[in-house]
Amino acid sequence: RAKSLGQGKICTYEPSMDEASRRRAELAIDLKRALVRNEFELHYQVQNDTQSGEIIGFEALLRWNHPVKGRVPPNDFIPMAEQTGLIVDIGDWVLRTACATAASWSQPFKVAVNVAPMQLNHDLPKRVAEVLRETGLAPERLEIELTETGIIADRQHALQVMQALKAIGVTVAMDDFGTGYSSLSTLQVFPFDKIKVDKSFIQSVETSVHAAAIVKATLLLGRSLNIPVLAEGVETEQHLAFLREEGCSSVQGFLFGKPLPQEAIHRMIRDVGATQAVVAEVAVKNA
Ligand code: C2E
Ligand code: MG
Ligand code: MG
Ligand code: MG
Repeated sequence: RAKSLGQGKICTYEPSMDEASRRRAELAIDLKRALVRNEFELHYQVQNDTQSGEIIGFEALLRWNHPVKGRVPPNDFIPMAEQTGLIVDIGDWVLRTACATAASWSQPFKVAVNVAPMQLNHDLPKRVAEVLRETGLAPERLEIELTETGIIADRQHALQVMQALKAIGVTVAMDDFGTGYSSLSTLQVFPFDKIKVDKSFIQSVETSVHAAAIVKATLLLGRSLNIPVLAEGVETEQHLAFLREEGCSSVQGFLFGKPLPQEAIHRMIRDVGATQAVVAEVAVKNA
């Protein structure tokens, strides 16, 4: 194993590899207890209409507050949760928490929930229907985000799951569009309600003509298939100007807001409500 690293780096790499795998094993044990110990938290990131700037919804993003290590990034623990199967219970917690939180908002914005491939094999439509009933969230306010890798394992089954979800009335978005290897044929078969262009393309639109071309082509594709496109990772006014110009439906990124704890989102929604009430009042006065 060490030999495959080659170039005489055997001695320097071997101990660090052991260290890394030891840390991973420890983390896996901690991850197993995280749910019962209440260490998970959801943050929510705003999604806006590109033209009007109005809020359309929020994406729920999982956070793990490790008692010793502090915040562990999702990209460090979600793959581990998938490998160990823990993602099924964790994903269920995410679904319940996101729906209950959205049901408590003072305005009926949508909430988008990321779903891991393995959850598709654990009665996802049944769980979604139950959670909607328990929380009282209207089905059209829930969006399920699936990645292409989540549906390639068993496309026939994934299609059935997706149709069952749509029959309940929830919408389904394709996450990280463009990063898989058969994004186009997937769109042909699966009735997605939304395409989320991966942030790696958005963040390179100014520096890479290829990235810009891919974003433009995706927007064109969305238009011809009649599927709205959301751009993720919008960080600058330049990104936004480009997306406006090219007719992108909705946007999400640090320019509009970082993922925030639910208390901050509650305030944001309440303030937006107040602003909209003032706007409506002024409009009535001026009429
Ligand atoms: P994702 O679903 O594609 O989520 C978007 C990621 O981009 C989030 O990272 C978000 O914080 C980040 N992001 C948003 N706007 C910007 C921006 O303007 N600039 C930059 N640099 N980044 C931005 P996060 O929260 O670290 O999550 C990473 C990934 O972990 C997610 O990617 C998703 O695949 C996975 N994930 C997060 N929560 C869950 C969950 O509840 N269940 C599952 N199965 N996966 C999750
Ligand atoms: Mg997502
Ligand atoms: Mg994404
Ligand atoms: Mg992504």
